[in-house]
Amino acid sequence: MAKAVIFLADGMADEPIAQLGGKTPLEAAETPAMDRIAARGINGTFFSLPEGFPTSSDAANMSVLGYNLARFYPGRGPIEAVSQGINLGNDDIAWRCNLVYVDGKDILVDYSAGHIDNAISSQLIRDLQEKFGSADVTFYPGVSYRNLLVLHGRKFSAAVDYFKPDSSQGEPVAQLRLKPLDDSPEAAYTVEFLEDLGRKTAAFLARHPLTQGVKNPGNRIWPWSPGHRPNFIPFAEKYAGRTAAVISAVDVIRGIGKCAQMDVIEVPGATGFIDTNYEGKAQAAIKALADHDLVYLHVEAIDECSHMGDLELKMRAIRDFDQRIVAPVMGACGDDVIYAVLPDHPVPLRLKAHTRTPVPVAICGPGIVPDGIGHYSETLAPQGTLGALKEDEFIRFVLGLWQP
Ligand SMILES: [Zn+2]
Repeated sequence: MAKAVIFLADGMADEPIAQLGGKTPLEAAETPAMDRIAARGINGTFFSLPEGFPTSSDAANMSVLGYNLARFYPGRGPIEAVSQGINLGNDDIAWRCNLVYVDGKDILVDYSAGHIDNAISSQLIRDLQEKFGSADVTFYPGVSYRNLLVLHGRKFSAAVDYFKPDSSQGEPVAQLRLKPLDDSPEAAYTVEFLEDLGRKTAAFLARHPLTQGVKNPGNRIWPWSPGHRPNFIPFAEKYAGRTAAVISAVDVIRGIGKCAQMDVIEVPGATGFIDTNYEGKAQAAIKALADHDLVYLHVEAIDECSHMGDLELKMRAIRDFDQRIVAPVMGACGDDVIYAVLPDHPVPLRLKAHTRTPVPVAICGPGIVPDGIGHYSETLAPQGTLGALKEDEFIRFVLGLWQP
């Protein structure tokens, strides 16, 4: 049984762009290492985001790892709470809590408050906890704009509909309100409680020294994707004892890894943005493959550049992914390893938001017969012999547990 490395390029897939002569950013960027996987292996697509679930990275990466969303999807908040080692009680509901920038016209301008600096965001969240923390609610600082809020007690409900901030930029806050998803008094009370908390914290943040004279300051909290404590089947139990390691800068992927009892590897300087420690992540993957059957190597930067709508940055992040992650790992680990590359979902620059379009997949390694596709691309991949994969087909193929 060959060991495997999955290279996960968050949000990399896109559409043909006129400025690139009708090519996609992936097709136009220099990517010799990913093209080598496509040329030496087989190609196809993977459907990561079924209807009925959020178009978010947690759902998409759980799909890539073969976890059925209807059975296991707990919401973003609980996954990140697990990543941070927060013990959720039976009656706790964890919410992702972004710090966002809302302008004077009450428009949601920036889902990341200008990719707020970690030291500033942590101080703001600590000050919110000191001022508004209670038996009902606790704030936890995370990484940059990605923080957590936990509601305590049965009077609260997770049955609340929300707007994902990174897909709602430019819209009036009045049109992005939380809504109860059922007729329960708990759901209605939860919406009321969070709206009241939203008003109070907005007044507090508007006067806070760390939001003065700053471009796109973190002047609002934005709670979304709530849920209760996750309950995953461990990865090794699900996949015939295969052991796995996860490498990622972001809590959502690290949280999925912890929920699935995979080994989560720490890499100092991994930021989740274009300034991340690529070399450190590649070295950690090479090392982890020595004592694991699978290494899941996730890079967030391309997704962030796509949400910013910045073509040049997206192209640079794709090149960096290819040359500072894929190439060194393949170079060090050799050809007796299975290599798979895919995004978790597309983020077309035109939309600056996730879509459910199946993503291109390329897989090469021992026993895999090349299908003649020469480059790794959104246009060519569907022509490959791997076909249109779904559910746990991708991960089982990579682990040698399933054949198309
Ligand atoms: Zn993603």
